[in-house]
Amino acid sequence: MKERKLLMIPGPIEFTPEVLQAMGQPTTSHLAANFLEAFGQALERLREVFLSPSGQPFIVAGSGTLAMDMAAANLIEPGDRALVVHTGYFSERFAAILERYGATVERVCAPAIGDAPAVEEVAAALERGTYKVMTITQVDTSTGVLADVRALAGLGRQYGTLVVVDGVCSIAGEELRQDEWGVDVALTASQKAIGVPPGLALLVASPRAMETFRRRKTPVANYYADWTEWLPIMEAYQARRPRYFATPAVNLVWALNVSLGQILAEGMDARIARHRRIARSFRAALSALGLRLVPVSPEKAAHTMTAVYYPEGVDSALLEKVQQAGVILAGGLHPEIRTRYFRIGHMGAVNPADLLATVGALEQGLAGLGYRFEPGVGLAAAQAALLEG
Ligand SMILES: *Cc1c(COP(=O)(O)O)cnc(C)c1O
Repeated sequence: MKERKLLMIPGPIEFTPEVLQAMGQPTTSHLAANFLEAFGQALERLREVFLSPSGQPFIVAGSGTLAMDMAAANLIEPGDRALVVHTGYFSERFAAILERYGATVERVCAPAIGDAPAVEEVAAALERGTYKVMTITQVDTSTGVLADVRALAGLGRQYGTLVVVDGVCSIAGEELRQDEWGVDVALTASQKAIGVPPGLALLVASPRAMETFRRRKTPVANYYADWTEWLPIMEAYQARRPRYFATPAVNLVWALNVSLGQILAEGMDARIARHRRIARSFRAALSALGLRLVPVSPEKAAHTMTAVYYPEGVDSALLEKVQQAGVILAGGLHPEIRTRYFRIGHMGAVNPADLLATVGALEQGLAGLGYRFEPGVGLAAAQAALLEG
């Protein structure tokens, strides 16, 4: 039997053979002509994937947390006020990072785990106070909750607040129209829906965000994340000119350029539609199996991943059983419900066959723990939903 396991967690995900091949190419100088071309092209493609023709892209070695750190370090000065639209673990991380750079943070919290704050509540907070920055976690990976970025970003524009979107678990899987929706900084990491092994922080900043950065009165309180250093580097690569600040992750950039090319070849609309179709059919399977989602309603559930409660009589031993059946899933992350639920990533190059394999392995795991259901009921529901389109 094949030993290979299918990796269905909310990052890192399964990567395409072409991306992995690019990782294995001989490493060149970070100033070699063909690398300048690949880096420059990756920057241009990043703008297209973020739907931000006016944006300034940044590609820096690091993880998603560095992308969050970079946004906060460059936009926040001590004493600034920031509003965090709070949907879970990663929203709280953003609050902590903003505070580290001296911001006074107010949180608009979800009424319950698995929910998102109402847009009206966020509007009320913006009406009460003046905030330089508002952060939104598009998909909070701890709850699988999808925030209404379009509506929230509209509020940001209305109240003159910079809108920063943590899209680490969403960009290139969920709909995000950075320019059209008025998002000032959208950020992600390579290992999630972008489809590249871990190690790259990716950001696109609007002209408004860059202007706010240029008008700072105090130096950026982080040496490595400072746009003062990185902007000339990105501009140089855009112009295919050599310039050094800190060594880029050469092989990851090769792989990123390949993956972004694949994403754009599929087309953003088709890609978003594929994620929706796969999420819908996965949820149909869970519902047929009698499992309950963490998000309080289907409209609030992400399309890149799913957070689901263990059914009665089942615990985290399920993950081991499912792994024996060939599929790797993730445990809980939200501190208040950590042991009561699990998570499945279905983003990036994921296809209907991966989805059916995952549902099949989940059924085997549930059966192995004595959970009672009609074998195949989840598979049938997933298949029926897939066939509906
Ligand atoms: C994964 C994730 C992060 C953190 O990214 P790392 O690459 O692990 O540092 C931040 N925000 C969200 C929404 C994520 O899913």
